Amino acid sequence: MAGNWKMYKAPAETSAFFEAFRPLVAGAAHCEIVICPPFPDLPAAVESTRQTRIMVGAQNLYWVKEGAFTGEVSGPMIRATGATHVIIGHSERRQYFGETDESVLKKTVAALDAGLTPIVCVGERLEHREAGQTETVLCDQCRQGIAGLDAAQFAKIVIAYEPVWAIGTGKTATPEMAAEAHAVIRSEMRARFGPDAAGSVRILYGGSVKPDNVKSLMAQPEIDGVLVGGASLDPVSFAKIVNFPS
Ligand code: PEP
Repeated sequence: MAGNWKMYKAPAETSAFFEAFRPLVAGAAHCEIVICPPFPDLPAAVESTRQTRIMVGAQNLYWVKEGAFTGEVSGPMIRATGATHVIIGHSERRQYFGETDESVLKKTVAALDAGLTPIVCVGERLEHREAGQTETVLCDQCRQGIAGLDAAQFAKIVIAYEPVWAIGTGKTATPEMAAEAHAVIRSEMRARFGPDAAGSVRILYGGSVKPDNVKSLMAQPEIDGVLVGGASLDPVSFAKIVNFPS
C-alpha cells in the first residue's frame, strides 16, 4: 500500500503525519506500507518511521549518480537518506516534465543500481481509453520501458497501473476495468519474462483510491496493492486504506 504525497507537506507536517499514522497501522502485518513524500521531507519521514514497518520512498530520481545537473537528485542520494523506494514515470512527470518510456527505463535501472525498489507507473489517457487504445498504449509503455530490464532487474520492481483519467479526478476505474488492465500488463510481462516472473511481479492500482473503494479493488486477484495520491495525505484516511481487510 503506497502513498504518493506529490508536492504537499513540509518536514514539520511530515513528522506530524507520522505521529498520527504510526499507531493507526501498528497492527497492519498483511501488507507493506510505503510513503513517498517530497525530497526535503525524506529525512523527517525516515526518522519518524524508524523501528516501524513503514517504508519511505522518493517520487523521482535522475539516472546519473552525480554531476553538473542542477536541480536533480540521484538514486544514491535518495538511498543515503534511508529511503528504500522511488516512484518512476508517474503520469504527472510524463505530462509536465517530458518523461518518456526511454527515460523511465534509465531511471528504473538507476534506482535498482542504487538499491532502491522502483515503483514504475504506466497508464492510458482518457482519449486512449475512449478510442479503444488502452491495451495498445499499455503494451507499448511496457515494451519500450520495463521490457528493457533483464530478468534479475525485473524481479525487483513493482508496477503501478494508473489510468491518467482517474488520477486526482475522483473517477476510479471499476475494479473490473482495473483488473482487466492489470491482466494486459501481466500478459505482456509473461511474454517477455516468462510465467513465473510475471506471476510474481506486484501490480498496484492507482487513481482516486479512497477508504470506501479500496476493498472492492483489492478483492480482484489481479490487484496486488494500491498507489494512493490525495487520500494518503490524511493519516486517518490512509490508515483506513492500509487496514482495508478489517
Ligand atoms: C497518484 O498521484 O498516484 C494518484 C493515484 O492520485 P489520486 O489517488 O489522488 O488519484
